[in-house]
Amino acid sequence: MTSSEGNILESISSMIRIPYTAPFPPAIIYPPTAIGKSAGVTALQEFLLAPNSSDRTSKSRTLVLTGAGVSVESGLADYRGENGTYRLNKKYRPIFYTEFISNHEARKRYWARSFLGWPTMRNARPNKSHMAIALLGATGLVHGIITQNVDSLHHLAHPQFTSSTINPSYRTIFDSLAHPGLPPLVPPIVEIHGTLRHTACLTCSFLHPRNQFQHTLEYLNPAWTEFLHNAQNKDALNPNTTRGERIRTNPDGDVDLPGAPYTKFRYPPCPKCLSEGGVEVDKDGAHVPCLSGGDYCTKKNTKGILKPSVVFFGEGVQSNTKNAADQLVKDSERILVIGSSLAAYSALKLVKEVARRGKGVGIINIGGVRGEAEFFEADSGPRLRLELPAADVLGDVVEQLEGRSIDWAVHPGNLQFGESISGLGG
Ligand SMILES: [Zn+2]
Repeated sequence: MTSSEGNILESISSMIRIPYTAPFPPAIIYPPTAIGKSAGVTALQEFLLAPNSSDRTSKSRTLVLTGAGVSVESGLADYRGENGTYRLNKKYRPIFYTEFISNHEARKRYWARSFLGWPTMRNARPNKSHMAIALLGATGLVHGIITQNVDSLHHLAHPQFTSSTINPSYRTIFDSLAHPGLPPLVPPIVEIHGTLRHTACLTCSFLHPRNQFQHTLEYLNPAWTEFLHNAQNKDALNPNTTRGERIRTNPDGDVDLPGAPYTKFRYPPCPKCLSEGGVEVDKDGAHVPCLSGGDYCTKKNTKGILKPSVVFFGEGVQSNTKNAADQLVKDSERILVIGSSLAAYSALKLVKEVARRGKGVGIINIGGVRGEAEFFEADSGPRLRLELPAADVLGDVVEQLEGRSIDWAVHPGNLQFGESISGLGG
C-alpha cells in the first residue's frame, strides 16, 4: 500500500465507528515510580498543574477523554477486561448502522435487546470518577470533556445540574437532558458516540426521550414487559448479582439474550411522521414497514424510523460533534485519557492530534492502550501513564487540592469549594 492510500484509509476510518478487538501491548508506566496509588496521585496532580506552554498566567487547560472504563463502577460493562483483552461473549456482535437502516428484523432484534438493557442504563448513577472530573471542571483545571460513553453519566455529574441528592432528583435531570435548547455546558461535554438519552427520527430528526419510548415499548410488548419485570424481581439485571443467572448489559445499553423470539417484538414509528401520513402501523400503533404495499412501502423505506441517538458501529460521527471535539483539542494544553483503550479510531485520532501538536498526553487505564507507545516518544509536553483504578486516583487528587475529604455521594453542584482549589492555577 502506498502512503497516500494509507492516508485515505485512515481519513475514512477516522469518521466511522469500527469495533477493534485485538489485544494491546502492556502499559509502560510513567513516571516509572508511579506504580502505587500514592505515587500515582502525586504524578496526576503534577500533570494537571503543569504550566501551560503558551500562556503561563491562565489556568491549566486539560482536556479529559473518557471511555467505558469510567462507568464500570456505576455498574455498566466495559468492552475490555482487566488484561485489556476483548471480554464480551464471542458470539455477541453489535448491530451495524446499515443493518438497522435497511432491515426491519434487525431493528426488532435491536429494540428488544435495548428494551431489556435500558433499565440498567437508566438507573446507573455517576461514580467517584465522574464526580471528580466534574469538580476539576468546576475549578477550571479541566476545560472540556470528550466521552465515548453513551450513558450520560458525565451530564448527570455536571455541576450545572444541581441536585440535593443522588436520588430521585436525577430522574428529572435525566429527562430534561432529552430536550434540546438547554444552555451550553461549562465545561462542555462532547459525546462523540452520541447518547442513549433520546431517539432521533431518521426522516425528520424529531428527538424523542428514550424513557418515554420505553413506555411505548412496554405497551406494545406485554410478554417482554413481563419477562423484564420477572428478571428485575430475580435481580438478574443487576451486574453485581450473585443470584441465579445474570443478564449482561453491554456498554451500548443492550443485552445478550441468545435464542429470544426477537421476531415478535414491536416498536413504534416517529409520532410526528405518523401524523403526517405515509407510515403504516398495526392496530396498536406498532411500525409495520410493508403492510399495504404502497409506494412508500419498499424494503428500504425508512420514513418514521426511530434510531437511538448513538453512533452505531459502521456509522460516521456527526460533523457538528466532530467539529466540537476538534475545537476542544485545539484549545487544550494536554489531554488526559481515562478508562479507554482507544480501540475506537475516532477517539485514538483525537489523542494522536494532541501528540502531533507537541502537547502533553496522560493515560489512566487498566490494561494496554492502542498505539500508546508513540504518544510518549516525543518529550515535548507533560506526560503520564498510570495503571491504577481511576476513581481512587482522581478522588484523592481532588481531595488533596481541596485540602479536605469529600463526601462523594453529594452532587458536585452542591459542593462548596474552599479557597485552595478554587484559587488554583489562576
Ligand atoms: Zn419523523
